[in-house]
Amino acid sequence: MALSDSRSTFPQAVSRAIREAIGVLLPVDCVGCGETDASLCEDCSASVPDAPAVRTLGNGFPVWAGSSYDGVVRRALLALKNEQRTDVAPALAPLLHAAFERALADLPMRSGTIADLQLATIPSSRSAYRRRGYRPVDRVVVKAGLKAQHPLALIRQPDDQIGLGLTARQGNLVGSLRARNWARGRTFLLVDDVVTTGATLLEARRALAEGGAEVVGAVVIAATPRRIIAST
Ligand SMILES: [Zn+2]
Repeated sequence: MALSDSRSTFPQAVSRAIREAIGVLLPVDCVGCGETDASLCEDCSASVPDAPAVRTLGNGFPVWAGSSYDGVVRRALLALKNEQRTDVAPALAPLLHAAFERALADLPMRSGTIADLQLATIPSSRSAYRRRGYRPVDRVVVKAGLKAQHPLALIRQPDDQIGLGLTARQGNLVGSLRARNWARGRTFLLVDDVVTTGATLLEARRALAEGGAEVVGAVVIAATPRRIIAST
């Protein structure tokens, strides 16, 4: 634990650590059906669509998704993001890993590109981080055995995105992110939890491109069904 933690966040961090420790010892409810069993019980795990790495497209920007954002996967992601259920991260990790593997298989094998490719997370708002105390995507990235960089900084707090269409979302987001100086000349594959309109991913690409980096696409745990285009 960082010694620089302020007095107000220190007790929160401690209580969080205790909750996590208790979670290891006590039975947990399945985020899919509520049965006391596992983070995601066998029945619910079996209901996760086994068509990993669905390929979605937005503005010619390839997005590889591990699953569609519905059913058990949607419930698990909401629990991870809104209910402190970090214990479901291992259940979601195979979906992200499948998306990543598929991205590597699909990306053009230009010499140097794949070897130098780095996963890049997109910063969540400070208020979201304070509320949760963790970054949901980072938890799943680690459990998937992947490593992500953080080449973007949030420089402006966007307004709430709920209810906005793609164009309005993009207008709201443009200029909210900035690439860090070290990103220049590097090649990134963005990583995020869910793609809905793709506005966040497009803003991340814009910021990185402006900072002299290349973004070849994105991998996500899940994509909203209406955005899914069957892969070829
Ligand atoms: Zn279940």
